[in-house]
Amino acid sequence: GPSSELERAESLIAAVPDHPSPGIVFRDLTPLFADAEAFATVVDAIAAPFAGRFDVVAGLEARGFLLAGAVALRTGTAVVPIRKAGKLPRETVAESYELEYGSATIEVHREDVPPGARVLIVDDVLATGGTLAAALRIGERLEWEVVGCGVILELDHLAGRSALGSEVVSLFRA
Ligand code: AMP
Repeated sequence: GPSSELERAESLIAAVPDHPSPGIVFRDLTPLFADAEAFATVVDAIAAPFAGRFDVVAGLEARGFLLAGAVALRTGTAVVPIRKAGKLPRETVAESYELEYGSATIEVHREDVPPGARVLIVDDVLATGGTLAAALRIGERLEWEVVGCGVILELDHLAGRSALGSEVVSLFRA
């Protein structure tokens, strides 16, 4: 059934110690994405709690793109990229957030999504929540009706969920 399929999908997530720097355990989802059944299982599980409540899926660069396109196609909705600064060619709305060292900026084309659109935001991993919080601020400025955020894996010890004033669904926790 679906729960054992989800368990198998979870087992495909690799924990890589000391990547990209000492002390960080990097959660690598590429083996899960590389398994057709596991990929379909997580894509459907991310969409299910929000079924019928969104018309656009916004995915965070870069692994969120893989998820967003698949969720959108599977649910008959549209897809929009939330990109790192400097990649999108037309007018954007940008938000910056703090990283452990320095800061990062993400942006969205102003005209890709009309005001009032019902948007689901997706990414692979929720860590500190800084990235999704910035995405939510972009959504606010563009007057999206964000229905929530869906991630595959939530890193509990970083309490990223508490930084987000939105419904957050995670499939797995570590
Ligand atoms: P954060 O803004 O701290 O929630 O970080 C989320 C973003 O960084 C996501 O796009 C993740 O893909 C990536 N990320 C952060 N920490 C990890 C980790 N330990 N393993 C894999 N990806 C991570």
